[in-house]
Amino acid sequence: MEPSTPMEPGGAAPARSLCSRAGCRRPADYRLEWRNPRIHGADRTKVWLACEEHQDELAAFLTARAFPLVVRPLAGDSGSDAASRSGGG
Ligand SMILES: [Zn+2]
Repeated sequence: MEPSTPMEPGGAAPARSLCSRAGCRRPADYRLEWRNPRIHGADRTKVWLACEEHQDELAAFLTARAFPLVVRPLAGDSGSDAASRSGGG
């Protein structure tokens, strides 16, 4: 499926994207933009979504193959700073 994300002129938030990791149902916090230079053109970009926990794992998977990778935070709104939590979760 093609991840179509049209800009919604309004306050209606689209359905929250989930982590692309198999078996993971957590909401995604990161957006991994990558491509395989051997099969993808320079203008072709694949996008994986990842939660906080799997971002490292998915990124490692791609970088281990020397794929060009750009990781961006999904949260567009400024002011959402849910970091600084004590203890693991
Ligand atoms: Zn995940």
